[in-house]
Amino acid sequence: MNEKNIFIVRVGETALKGENKPFFERMLVERIRKLLKRFDGVEVTRKEGLIFVHSDKSIPQEDIIKWVSKAFGVQTISPAVETESNMEAIGAAAVEYMNRIIAEKGIKTFKVKAKRADKQFPVQSPDIAKQVGASVLKGCKVLKVDVHDPDCNLYVNVRKDVSYIYQDKIKGFGGMPLGTNGKGLVLLSGGIDSPVATFMMARRGMAIEAIHFHSFPYTSERAREKVEDLASQLAVYCSRFKMHVVNLLPIQEEIVKNCPEEETTIHVRMFMMRIAEKIADKNGCGMLITGESLGQVASQTAEALTVTNSAVRMPIMRPLIALDKTEIIDIARDIETFETSIEPYEDCCTVFLPKHPQTKPRLDRILDSEKKLDIEALVDAAVKSEEIVDIYPKK
Ligand code: ATP
Ligand code: MG
Repeated sequence: MNEKNIFIVRVGETALKGENKPFFERMLVERIRKLLKRFDGVEVTRKEGLIFVHSDKSIPQEDIIKWVSKAFGVQTISPAVETESNMEAIGAAAVEYMNRIIAEKGIKTFKVKAKRADKQFPVQSPDIAKQVGASVLKGCKVLKVDVHDPDCNLYVNVRKDVSYIYQDKIKGFGGMPLGTNGKGLVLLSGGIDSPVATFMMARRGMAIEAIHFHSFPYTSERAREKVEDLASQLAVYCSRFKMHVVNLLPIQEEIVKNCPEEETTIHVRMFMMRIAEKIADKNGCGMLITGESLGQVASQTAEALTVTNSAVRMPIMRPLIALDKTEIIDIARDIETFETSIEPYEDCCTVFLPKHPQTKPRLDRILDSEKKLDIEALVDAAVKSEEIVDIYPKK
């Protein structure tokens, strides 16, 4: 038996990245190390296109799997056993391994899938499978082979120094290692959508910072705590990040005083983008990210999104644009933000909400109304007033 628990981690799409491959893999190893820092006695190494985790037996395997699978770029993870790379040792290890699986799961049928990563190894893959299969049949009398629908696939991966035996391939989130695809500033509300949007961009390797707008005292302290809660759940995936917090109330009051009521929402959205762009620029973020989805509310019609875009030159990423609410909710549940998102607290967007918001705003008219506002001064004052909160991953 191995002295430590061993896990094989397979990198996903990162494997396709040609010359960048070692870079992506190094980033992923670092990310996994960081996630596993909470445990003593864990080692993460990289060898021949795979990542290996060795952990003390005292740490439950589920805990290692839970945290490793939160690293973007992980395609699958398998608890494995290690054995010497010769047929006798592999056969014996397979028997011992399968006896354990029989005791744990009561399986009756199996199939061996062998892979020879070391091409110098004298036995070819199909013969490795046959020989290991024969050893298991002999050593585990209750088992039969079923090549079509086995209770258990027994994987044998033969490598130069050591070989690996495993059974499950547990899915990670896929994507690309965090920090390999620029940095974006997410407009984070307390709702369901923007946390999902954050997750989706981060899964593609984008590092993130967040900006949250409130309208204190119209919005409560508790509403802001809720957003910090959501942010810290996101930090589990996105690592520690900075959240910029800005009071939008002075701008909202100016808009309400000077612009037509039905245009309020669109003006507020344009100011949000302008402030976000400035803060993004100052913090090395090249893109803005929102949780908008086409047609979901008045400010997310095709026309409204076009007008909002015109307020900034920075690209606005809207990863949820083509998703239905039910699909967004499924992801929110999966990443464990849903329950917090549905807590009933007010958002700054609901303060001064017009009775009949425009759904088809015209850019020329909107810009015309804005002439009454000193846009630059308002944006600068808002940016100056920002508070910065360090968001740490939820325990
Ligand atoms: P969410 O569920 O993310 O709150 P929503 O469907 O309620 O989205 P809106 O309120 O129109 O939609 O907001 C659209 C997007 O604008 C949000 O997904 C978010 O990116 C951004 N946003 C809205 N309110 C705020 C806020 N208070 N602070 C920062 N960003 C916000
Ligand atoms: Mg919202």
